[in-house]
Amino acid sequence: MNLPRQPILLTPGPLTTSDRTRDAMLRDWGSWDGDFNQITARVRRETLRIVHGEDTHECVPLQGSGTFSVEAAIGTLVPRDGHVLVPNNGAYCQRIMKICRALGRRHQSIDYPEDTQVKPADIDRVLAADPSITHVALVHCETGAGVLNPLHEIAMVVAKHGRSLIVDAMSSFGAIDIDARQTPFDAVVAASGKCLEGVPGMGFVIVRRSVLERCEGNSHSLAMDLYDQWAYMNRTTQWRFTPPTHVVAALDQAIAQYIEEGGLEARGARYARNCRALIDGMAELGFRPFLDPSIQAPIIVTFHAPDDPAYDFKTFYQEVKKRGYILYPGKLTQIETFRVGCIGHFGEAGIPGAVAAIADTLKAMGISQVSPKALA
Ligand SMILES: *Cc1c(COP(=O)(O)O)cnc(C)c1O
Repeated sequence: MNLPRQPILLTPGPLTTSDRTRDAMLRDWGSWDGDFNQITARVRRETLRIVHGEDTHECVPLQGSGTFSVEAAIGTLVPRDGHVLVPNNGAYCQRIMKICRALGRRHQSIDYPEDTQVKPADIDRVLAADPSITHVALVHCETGAGVLNPLHEIAMVVAKHGRSLIVDAMSSFGAIDIDARQTPFDAVVAASGKCLEGVPGMGFVIVRRSVLERCEGNSHSLAMDLYDQWAYMNRTTQWRFTPPTHVVAALDQAIAQYIEEGGLEARGARYARNCRALIDGMAELGFRPFLDPSIQAPIIVTFHAPDDPAYDFKTFYQEVKKRGYILYPGKLTQIETFRVGCIGHFGEAGIPGAVAAIADTLKAMGISQVSPKALA
């Protein structure tokens, strides 16, 4: 078998990046340097363009992993006497609730099973019944199971009630269309190391300018205050506090390749092809996806684990890794699953190669019962 030198990451961030993106990190930058601050400005401008927010919104970058930016968005946009509604269909929704709890922001949830979408009609009903709710915090693609939530319909409902919408679009930004000209939102949160195929280390929040201007003093935190980060950046062109210089330079290069590839349409189509090839290839081995295809986002696919006593995830993971691919454990509480990402810089052979590695692993582990017994 011809092993790739580095394994392909089929994980939804960190993910496989291109040589060009990694090469962009082979240079050191000073945080005061004009050339570096032009890179920051370009990253802000281009990410804003992806959601067509140039006229209405501002991009505020922030150091840290994606969760830092979600927390900063909640802390900066939701005033201390605000009240957040979290439609909850998975692990990342629950993380938002945890953030609200940690920040002392009042919140409530509408709970759904992990294999269903959030329903706009439920949000409509809850907002109508409770005028104290000021914000809705939605996860666009719930990366826990891979469910795509109906962002546009929910945004229309939230706007109808005159409330504020904060969207965790971490795993969809750049691959699934979000258009600020048509879909009303006050904040969309994303990060460098997901569908833009940069390296991890920074997030960014696309915030409605008229909302951001009124956010001074909301944040409980200095480092996580997006208003302060924005105001400082506007004044100085610099980041407040040490910027993740190499990460910014890599993201800039990754965005250049994103544009060359054909932008959102091309990126989304490539991921959709990966997703289809993955589900079809795995079906031939007997694997069944956890979700109905109608609600599956083309980002990450959850599969039922083989129903065979010879299976355990750790061995399975190690064996697939030996064959050049990195899988992701399941994130569901009730049933045994594993996940395979469809995103990242790898060629069209990546998914068939991964399916072949999984087939080979099943043989090596002596696993014959792949589908759940009830369906076999
Ligand atoms: C990746 C991701 C995050 C951020 O996770 P980090 O580990 O902090 O980078 C948040 N929300 C969703 C939906 C994600 O997929």
